Amino acid sequence: MKKVIYLVFFSFILLTACGKKQAVIDRPAFSADSAYHYIETQMSFGPRVPNGQGHTDCVIYLVHQLRRFGADVTLQKGTMTDYSGRVQPVMNIIGRFNRSESASPVLLCAHYDTRPWCDQEEDYANRFMNVPGANDGASGVGVLLEVARQINMKEDLATPVDIVFFDCEDMGTPDFYTGEQRENTWCLGSQLFADEYLNREVRYQYGILLDMVGAPDARFPREYYSSQYAENYQERIWRTARDLGYGRYFEDRLSYPIVDDHYYLNLAGVPCVDIIHYDMQRSTGFPEWWHTRRDDMGNIDKSSLQAVGEVVMALL
Ligand SMILES: [Zn+2]
Repeated sequence: MKKVIYLVFFSFILLTACGKKQAVIDRPAFSADSAYHYIETQMSFGPRVPNGQGHTDCVIYLVHQLRRFGADVTLQKGTMTDYSGRVQPVMNIIGRFNRSESASPVLLCAHYDTRPWCDQEEDYANRFMNVPGANDGASGVGVLLEVARQINMKEDLATPVDIVFFDCEDMGTPDFYTGEQRENTWCLGSQLFADEYLNREVRYQYGILLDMVGAPDARFPREYYSSQYAENYQERIWRTARDLGYGRYFEDRLSYPIVDDHYYLNLAGVPCVDIIHYDMQRSTGFPEWWHTRRDDMGNIDKSSLQAVGEVVMALL
């Protein structure tokens, strides 16, 4: 009972604080209901594990959705080597909006594949199951599909934007593998994208990567590599979040280096900022549901989606 009273009191202070901050900048249009629906749809395909049917169904869905929202869509196909030395087909999905001769596009990205192994499960037998990937995968993609829908509806928004959905981010060496653990077995799609970036004509202004952005208690401290390679953009994003009253999600403190898709983009010369759920209190740095069977729709909260979506829209 005591706790409840405290919570109500605390929420009141929070609401008051947010209310005051709302006046700082205009709240951009973004529908968390719609983002949530895009996450549910991805989940309806089952796990989007590379080489599986759910993955194929998801590719068809994402291409269809991006086209429906007016994007010029291309598939970037290639092969990479997985942790066990096998050849792995990789397919990134690129949707271009508001192409321009004079202005460089902003890159918005997320991975759409889901992890083949729940290797953070306590029970050994469960570690060979697929991660459902509501948050780790579907959340970033769901937010960006809603951003795509908003871009299509806003006639006064002329910023060129490329929305890229990366493949094979989460195929990194499983914890239970007895061979060598190599960092570059993660993020295969973005590595392919970064390799080919230098041969493409496009030059990005900067990039934003969304990864695990939908949890009820989402926390995004400033990721270390982003602050090394793209400090000004990171500062701008966190300031925008603060101005929108979302400082409780976008924590104003530095976290540790995370090798995520943005890392390879930064190496290729695209200043890219990772917005990623990170828990400074835990030894792995990631929340307790991370790479387990609990990463399902119960792990998705519309308020977190709304916060991230508004921040991205405000930057465009
Ligand atoms: Zn993951």
